[in-house]
Amino acid sequence: MSADSHADRRLLATLERELEALERSGVRWLSVAPDPTAAAPVERSAYRPPEASEAAAPARAAAAPPKNDKPTLGEPQVPMASRPSESPPQPAVAGDPGEASPHPSALDTLESLRFQYRDCQNCKLGGSRTHLVFGVGSDRPRLMFIGEGPGADEDEQGLPFVGRAGKLLTGLIEAMGLVRDDVYITNVVKCRPPGNRNPEPDEVASCRPILQRQIELLNPRLIVTLGNVPLKVLRPEAGGITRERGRPFTYQRWQVLPTFHPSYLLRNPSAIETCWPDFRKALQMAYVEE
Ligand code: URA
Repeated sequence: MSADSHADRRLLATLERELEALERSGVRWLSVAPDPTAAAPVERSAYRPPEASEAAAPARAAAAPPKNDKPTLGEPQVPMASRPSESPPQPAVAGDPGEASPHPSALDTLESLRFQYRDCQNCKLGGSRTHLVFGVGSDRPRLMFIGEGPGADEDEQGLPFVGRAGKLLTGLIEAMGLVRDDVYITNVVKCRPPGNRNPEPDEVASCRPILQRQIELLNPRLIVTLGNVPLKVLRPEAGGITRERGRPFTYQRWQVLPTFHPSYLLRNPSAIETCWPDFRKALQMAYVEE
């Protein structure tokens, strides 16, 4: 067994143990020391030039504490707000066009897209949400994660993947040598489906223009879909996630890598080891391969 895979296995075993402890103790945030072996292939030169959150990633990895297989329980990660970036979204929400955006000269940005949908009632989920959960992270990400839809914690906080599944996703991102601010995280539907049921086709269709525009504006090198729902949205003909995970495909002009949903991993901790190669592959595809 190579040193890398030995380190991976130890890290995954520790992650699993930590998750179980998390469940038992109700700890609120899991922060995993970056794994230098995961970060190693990410050359500084492979990054795009100085965009704060991006350029910081390899530096953070290089400055990581001495190798320590024990994940640490830390403070909450504070996701960075998306910053304005590019060209105008298609108005798709009923509302007063006269007050469409506070930044009319920067219509085509993530912020204006978010603003346009702030009061969205295009489907029945609009009526029961606390917050519309738009997405969070870098506005120039190499890597974009797409989940299914907000749960109770996300609905309450207005941020994606901040509940138990989110803590695991954050741990996996950090185990890749990155932090949440290096990537962009969103969901297929932006409002919580009641009882955490899967989003229904009309709900997915209502949110589709937002997701599409997010992908276009962010233009990530790689999209990682989490679980069956986003996989089927980007590739309706795909088989189940168990068959498709780890098998890249192209959606329009973007590369996509499907993997398991963190909620599934919480229920089946041994599957973390199965899908860890997907996260390594994602790192390779997003940061190393040209
Ligand atoms: N599950 C998801 O699919 N998305 C979230 O934001 C949280 C849990």
